[in-house]
Amino acid sequence: MKLLEERILKEGTVIGNEVLKVDHFLNHQIDPVLMQAIGKEFARLFEGLGINKIITIESSGIAPAVFAGLEMGIPVIFARKHKSLTLTDNLYSSTVYSFTKKVSNEIAVSKQFLSQDDHVLLIDDFLANGQAAVGLIDICKQAGAHISGVGIVIEKSFQKGRALVEEQQIKIESLARIASFKDNQVVFVEE
Ligand code: 5GP
Repeated sequence: MKLLEERILKEGTVIGNEVLKVDHFLNHQIDPVLMQAIGKEFARLFEGLGINKIITIESSGIAPAVFAGLEMGIPVIFARKHKSLTLTDNLYSSTVYSFTKKVSNEIAVSKQFLSQDDHVLLIDDFLANGQAAVGLIDICKQAGAHISGVGIVIEKSFQKGRALVEEQQIKIESLARIASFKDNQVVFVEE
């Protein structure tokens, strides 16, 4: 997605060899105009698959997921990272190792919001080693829901996340694919 790539080049900062900071429009400050375009693109890419629900993970997946949900006219569930008082029983849960924070989190979704009747689109802000995606796929499987696709805003293609999703024969679409960080500059995958 050209617009997104331009924003990454203009406002992204490469941290070390593996992390991209995009706090200007996605991970801290959010640009709703860009998010709306992202939502429309996800809706276009996953059209006609009978998707009736979106699942993401708090917190940075929520903005792109909600804009996709708005465009598709379907609800968005975000998996919670900490069990709150109001969300204790009746949970599907999975353990996710966080690439950026280097800690494991238990993620959970209430059983009332996912079932075997659901055709789910999984959306996240970044795909790195695929742990968040695998955790969300695990939760959908526990519910017996069908996973219709994975939509990623920014994929770091030099990490193993895409392979883990493709291994499970799940359609994956990433709006920006990063091949490498060369001299602290982003290099996109040529398509
Ligand atoms: P994974 O589970 O695929 O290893 O990592 C995905 C999660 O880690 C995303 O939900 C995102 O929050 C975070 N993440 C991974 N890589 C990056 C990165 O380069 N930049 C930012 N801002 N977040 C990242």
